[in-house]
Amino acid sequence: MQALILEQQDGKTLASVQKLEESRLPEGDVTVDIHWSSLNYKDALAITGKGKIIRNFPMIPGIDFAGTVRASEDPRFHAGQAVLLTGWGVGENHWGGLAERARVKGDWLVALPDGLDGRKAMIIGTAGFTAMLCVMALEEAGVRPEAGEIVVTGASGGVGSTAVALLHQLGYRVAAVTGRESTHAYLQSLGADRILGRDEFAETRPLEKQLWAGAVDTVGGNVLAKVLAQMNYGGCVAACGLAGGFALPTTVMPFILRNVRLQGVDSVMTPADRRTRAWQRLANDLPECFYDQTATEITLEQAPTFAEAIMNNQAQGRTLVKIS
Ligand code: NDP
Repeated sequence: MQALILEQQDGKTLASVQKLEESRLPEGDVTVDIHWSSLNYKDALAITGKGKIIRNFPMIPGIDFAGTVRASEDPRFHAGQAVLLTGWGVGENHWGGLAERARVKGDWLVALPDGLDGRKAMIIGTAGFTAMLCVMALEEAGVRPEAGEIVVTGASGGVGSTAVALLHQLGYRVAAVTGRESTHAYLQSLGADRILGRDEFAETRPLEKQLWAGAVDTVGGNVLAKVLAQMNYGGCVAACGLAGGFALPTTVMPFILRNVRLQGVDSVMTPADRRTRAWQRLANDLPECFYDQTATEITLEQAPTFAEAIMNNQAQGRTLVKIS
């Protein structure tokens, strides 16, 4: 089997496609033939070595994949069944999806929902799944379309673009925050009602004019601080990312004077029933045109080059990896 292998030399991460014996796959009760994987921000951090994602080398990266079951000792899965996986540390501390085959725990797998094939599932991938979890967090906080506008930061990235498309489809008005003018037409095609420049979010006061009923933040840092200061009374921010930094230079004012909720969103350890619900929602709620608009398709060999592009903020939408 072919796999993208990450190794360390003199403290640097090296990535190359190599041939491997299947017997070297880690322990697990289900072996999957992988057809599609994707590149997420976390994969880019791992492959370029710019983030301390991987501690044990050699490692096959790839935090998500879709494929068919090759062999299973788990009664819930049978050979030939279409499955997908995101999170659980796969591609971080357990060999991951950027390979022709993976062996994993049955507990980590999701049966592919009706309405999706493997390609569509990986156009969505971890990023799109996380966007759905953010939308569900806003819904659970009582943020309805009639409550007002939703702001999405890092809007042209994987999480951001799926959040824009989902929110638009669900009837919300969406303001997209981006650092790149080249992405404006793309964001409008996904359903953004207006577009704001990232530079408008560089500085903030503890409280500003109330603008947003809800927010999906993939960026963190000053951008999240500004969004918090601009939330409507009783609004909710679903915060999932740190593309702009992990610090949060804010005050308690939005929380204690405007009843604002800051809801963290983690996709890695999401419990199985919530996962299944989110994937079913994605299958139902994303419009067909989303899949054409947002995907760049690459090969395993191209993954290191595209990981660099993601780190340099040159990628748009989702990067889909065709495996076999
Ligand atoms: P992408 O690289 O696809 O998108 C990130 C976007 O953030 C970019 O497209 C860009 O959008 C914006 N951005 C990039 N650099 C900066 C910067 N320096 N300052 C401000 N904005 C910046 O990544 P993903 O969509 O895959 O992931 C987004 C974030 O969400 C990441 O931090 C990732 O780690 C996190 N994440 C968290 C998950 C969880 O479980 N909590 C799961 C998945 C992702 P634009 O050019 O439009 O401004």
